Amino acid sequence: MPIYEFKCNACSKKFETILTSSAKVSEVTCPECQSKNIQKTISASSYRLNSSSGSIPAGALSGCSSKGGFS
Ligand SMILES: [Zn+2]
Repeated sequence: MPIYEFKCNACSKKFETILTSSAKVSEVTCPECQSKNIQKTISASSYRLNSSSGSIPAGALSGCSSKGGFS
């Protein structure tokens, strides 16, 4: 289930919503003030995932190079 994090521009409330394929971002409203003036933000969990993949430990690198690449 994809969970998206939104921030309300009207009251600065941050909230998470599960968006199924049938749901649309334009139909998401703020649970605090019911405003549609919201923006999608990058969730903290996925941001951490991306940044950690950028720094590969030295041990993992040497193990990969001996095999000659990713497999
Ligand atoms: Zn709001």
